[in-house]
Amino acid sequence: MSKVLIVGCGGVGSVAAHKCAQNSEVFDEICIVSRNLKKCDELKNKITGRTSAKISTAEVDANNVDALAKLIENFKPDIVMNLALPYQDLKIMRACLLTKTNYLDTANYESEDSAKFEYKEQWAFDDAFKKAGITAVLGCGFDPGVSGIFTAYALKHHFDEIETLDILDCNAGDHGYPFATNFNPEINIREVTAKGCYFENGKFVETEPMEIKRVYDFPEIGEKDMYLLHHEELESLAKNIPGIKRIRFFMTFGQSYLTHLKCLENIGMTSIKPIDFNGQKIVPLQFLKAVLPDPASLGSRTVGKTNIGCIICGKKSDKPVNYYVYNVCDHRECFREVGSQAISYTTGVPAMIGASMLATGKWNLKGVRNVEEFDPDPFMDALNKFGLPWKETFSPVLVE
Ligand code: NDP
Repeated sequence: MSKVLIVGCGGVGSVAAHKCAQNSEVFDEICIVSRNLKKCDELKNKITGRTSAKISTAEVDANNVDALAKLIENFKPDIVMNLALPYQDLKIMRACLLTKTNYLDTANYESEDSAKFEYKEQWAFDDAFKKAGITAVLGCGFDPGVSGIFTAYALKHHFDEIETLDILDCNAGDHGYPFATNFNPEINIREVTAKGCYFENGKFVETEPMEIKRVYDFPEIGEKDMYLLHHEELESLAKNIPGIKRIRFFMTFGQSYLTHLKCLENIGMTSIKPIDFNGQKIVPLQFLKAVLPDPASLGSRTVGKTNIGCIICGKKSDKPVNYYVYNVCDHRECFREVGSQAISYTTGVPAMIGASMLATGKWNLKGVRNVEEFDPDPFMDALNKFGLPWKETFSPVLVE
């Protein structure tokens, strides 16, 4: 039996809290915290009565390391799940270190004033976490997260060596708005307006934003336009998958989303540079976030499916192997189960599973780790059990 502290009760935090509560054999106490106690209490009320786990809430600003460490000292969780924003990663890791508590997140650190994400600041905690005898699991959502687990599973069971990996993220959901984002708008827009990047022959190659486009016929969805993006798991998989020659990440976008985004970019609304407005400093992107629909509110209006997976090519016993492993998730079914759309669902479920791997000792490496460093098998079983079943084929259509 174990205790989990969930920081953040937005789209992803809400799904993770529901799923921890469903897994009360592992989690018998759940504490949900954010800066807004009312929101945490509303979430608690939705879950209470549907689980034997004890649920509590608290208000904390995770940017205040001492306040968070005090809360951790009082509640004594086995794991802190960081489902707030990437800006808080280092602060929450510091609080975990102070209190010798395991840590897990779903997105790597980014500072608020530069739209650049990389692992180096979090990997720098490795020695300290090892000395403290605790674990930090980085990037345990779907992508990053399940994308790394799929790759580790493929390497363990189907390949002697992996040559190329394409991660394909398709969201064919329709929420009926001309423009909205499926997770935190600020983080989402920072990610998709950044330069693209792929890994090839030991180097990261930069592209212009949305410069590389492909069309792919996704199983259970159909043909969609997808664009090459920089994504954080490129960095960890290039380090952790021995001998890999190429890694690319593609995400689908509809024409309405791209047209709106271009227009917002052209008029300066996606900028993260503060401007003066009526004697006050405001960040245009933060203002845009305030007028866009809250991703947590999209669940009731979103129809359609997501398909996220990995196409992996390489060799087994000197013979070429092509392998595609993916999950298809239905927005309406997620809403029926936990009141959220599939993007929050496909992130919150793996976060809960990662926490349960630590809580049950199935994952027991110490230090700061990315998901592909752990045994993928119990995680793959748990995906099937907790709502994200996966499918595989050895004859996929490859991405050119
Ligand atoms: P939301 O904006 O919906 O939720 C963020 C939550 O964090 C809110 O509850 C907010 O509450 C809380 N929060 C923000 N700042 C603080 C703070 N200083 N202290 C305490 N709590 C804080 O975001 P999402 O749920 O959509 O996304 C959550 C995370 O998941 C993000 O990091 C995102 O990048 C990541 N993600 C990862 C994916 C993956 O596949 N790996 C996919 C999708 C998202 P309040 O403001 O009230 O404090």
